[in-house]
Amino acid sequence: MLEIVDLKKDYKTGNYVTHALKKVDLKFKDKGFYSILGPSGCGKSTLLNLIGLLDTPTDGKIIFNETNLSSLKQDEIDLFRNKYIGFVFQSYHLIHNLTCFENIALPIYLGGESDKAKVEERVDEILKKVGLFDVKDKKSSDLSGGQMQRISICRALINSPKIILADEPTGALDSKTSLEIAEILKKLSEDHLVIMVTHNKDLAYKYSDEIYYLNDGEITDHKILKEEVEKEDNKNQLRVVFKRRKLVSDKIVWSLAIKNLLSKKAKSIISAVANCFGLVALGFILALTNGFTVYSDMVSYETASSLPINVPAYTIKTDSESREDINQSTEFPDDEAIFPYVSTSSEYTYTYNNYTEEYFDLLD
Ligand code: ADP
Ligand code: MG
Repeated sequence: MLEIVDLKKDYKTGNYVTHALKKVDLKFKDKGFYSILGPSGCGKSTLLNLIGLLDTPTDGKIIFNETNLSSLKQDEIDLFRNKYIGFVFQSYHLIHNLTCFENIALPIYLGGESDKAKVEERVDEILKKVGLFDVKDKKSSDLSGGQMQRISICRALINSPKIILADEPTGALDSKTSLEIAEILKKLSEDHLVIMVTHNKDLAYKYSDEIYYLNDGEITDHKILKEEVEKEDNKNQLRVVFKRRKLVSDKIVWSLAIKNLLSKKAKSIISAVANCFGLVALGFILALTNGFTVYSDMVSYETASSLPINVPAYTIKTDSESREDINQSTEFPDDEAIFPYVSTSSEYTYTYNNYTEEYFDLLD
């Protein structure tokens, strides 16, 4: 049983707060077709995203078979979503560069299965059920809206989830195809809990077992259209189990990445060429700066070496230049250089070079 208790969701945009859901309480049995009916903007998608653990509530609890889903850690949320929930969206959310087979198989791979034969068997079985086995290897973008929605239902069902969440699943379809999709969901509700969000009253009345009316973030009414046939056996309730899954294999990750690259050939080639140009330009600029440094060093070396080294017999410093830095007040300073004491009475300072063998060796 799925229970929603005091669920609240606020969206903050700058200083403005939207109270999308205000204290919502709902109960769903293990199986059946439930509709959440309400006008656009009343909080239907917000509610479904919270039930599907795609978003976190501001307050309240979501309890599934006695497990409080609101208190799960992120990796447990991912496991729960993959194993227990199947999503069907108005705009299908298929990956268009993958085939129908690959789109449906994706949740199996994400669940850790890597045996291709097993995966193929499961996908084939489900494609046959919805009568779309012949489009198995077609790109999902080549299908009609109704076919795309059926493929997305297959994808939602492939891991045999307990709960199927459908957000306006017929919103983009004509009335005949809408009925076909609703029929499929109705059939599924015999074994699953199907929660459909819609603003289509006719569809809700025709197919639902129960309808919750949502308006401005609040449940305003609840109707039971079809009484349950069997009483639920609470003792046999399925417990939520978090079994660690294997990681998706590198082979699958790489094959998806390469497929994605190949599907956007022009874009991939242009960005690869642009990156190459960028790298070449960077290398060129570095080479140029380095070349200039080497060249200027070479020029200074050649220029300096052609000039004679002038070593005068003595140097003269005038009074103003020499006195201040040569005469130090400390007798034994810590400085590295030590200057002789020069008499301040003289106007000039004479410093004689002492030409020794070592001195000429040093110059050489
Ligand atoms: P419905 O699906 O019934 O059309 P939504 O659940 O999408 O309604 O939205 C309910 C309210 O919450 C709307 O007023 C909408 O503008 C607001 N809302 C929905 N999502 C966001 C968001 N991510 N940030 C801010 N406001 C949001
Ligand atoms: Mg919506």
